Amino acid sequence: DETSGGLPGSVRTRWAELVNLIDDAQFAYYVRDQPTVPDSEYDRWFRDLESLESTYPALRTPESPTQRVGGTYSTDFAPVRHLQQMYSLQDVFSVGEVDEWASRVMRDSDGAHIDWLTEVKIDGLALNLLYVGGKLARASTRGDGITGEDVTLNARTIAAIPQVLGGDPAHHPVTIEIRGEVFIPVADFSAMNEAQVAAGKAPFANPRNAAAGSLRQKDPRVSASRPLNFYAHGIGDVEWAGAAPAAFDRQSHAYSLFARWGIPISPHNRVCQSLSQVREMIEFYGEHRHDIEHELDGIVVKVDEFALQATLGFTSRVPRWAVAYKYPPEEVNTRLLAIEIGV
Ligand code: NAD
Repeated sequence: DETSGGLPGSVRTRWAELVNLIDDAQFAYYVRDQPTVPDSEYDRWFRDLESLESTYPALRTPESPTQRVGGTYSTDFAPVRHLQQMYSLQDVFSVGEVDEWASRVMRDSDGAHIDWLTEVKIDGLALNLLYVGGKLARASTRGDGITGEDVTLNARTIAAIPQVLGGDPAHHPVTIEIRGEVFIPVADFSAMNEAQVAAGKAPFANPRNAAAGSLRQKDPRVSASRPLNFYAHGIGDVEWAGAAPAAFDRQSHAYSLFARWGIPISPHNRVCQSLSQVREMIEFYGEHRHDIEHELDGIVVKVDEFALQATLGFTSRVPRWAVAYKYPPEEVNTRLLAIEIGV
């Protein structure tokens, strides 16, 4: 076997092949909003790449898709540097892997009791809202996590996103990045697609792509005409005039604060005291996947306490204090077919 850098040539070839497949799929998905392969196939390539790199760690270079936030930004929009990096999530595909992740978290947190904040993983696209002095100053997509796309004018057309935070201005932070998901409710999706077809345009493959395509418009009037909604699920940079409020000690408490400011929070969030409650949450939404207002592809489990999140930190791509359990793919063939025929 021909080797280079101590690696069999065939291994390098396979690695390069997977990286190319992933890069092309990311471009189609994040920049063109038109995926060319189903998510399950993309996820499989990603997993194969991760397992190849765990066998041959020399392959795990900073350029690998496993080491960076997937995605890029289009030159159609002005670039925006996030005050704090935006991250992806570590995906796992079994409850056993959630337990393994939880064991690592418990090991690294000196046996402290851990509250697990569980949330439905919304199938939309991430949006970073920067509020300065309580006013919406800028909205940007995730991009590569460091730099996103300026979609401020489009985001201003989303009724769910407040232009000015509610509540007592004296209690607002000087600046805060509120991160969340823009999505199109399932109930609005089919009507929207019918309107597309009636207007002689190609319908969207699914609500996620419809949301991404609708937010990433050059003309904000088009975004305004689309049924976009938003739930907050994260926090970036935050700066307070004085000390942070005592209630800003946990992510779930921060959400309560956000709700008082008029920021929409998912009604499906739940703080679990034990891993068996986490499993119940996973089972519940596995059975009720199609009974809620938006599409979901998994359950996100987060360490609730900010101090513990800070101890655990981030890799270059994901927080160590969170994990995304992904449900088994459904209707793979239908989706693939839909993509193939351009629906
Ligand atoms: P991800 O979508 O799996 O996870 C990270 C994202 O989850 C965050 O950026 C956030 O926007 C979102 N999210 C939703 N609900 C959340 C919650 N409650 N809390 C926190 N975050 C929440 O990771 P990714 O790196 O953006 O992309 C990978 C995903 O995109 C995979 O599901 C993959 O299948 C899909 N993808 C598909 C293709 C394709 O060609 N079909 C290409 C690229 C990516």
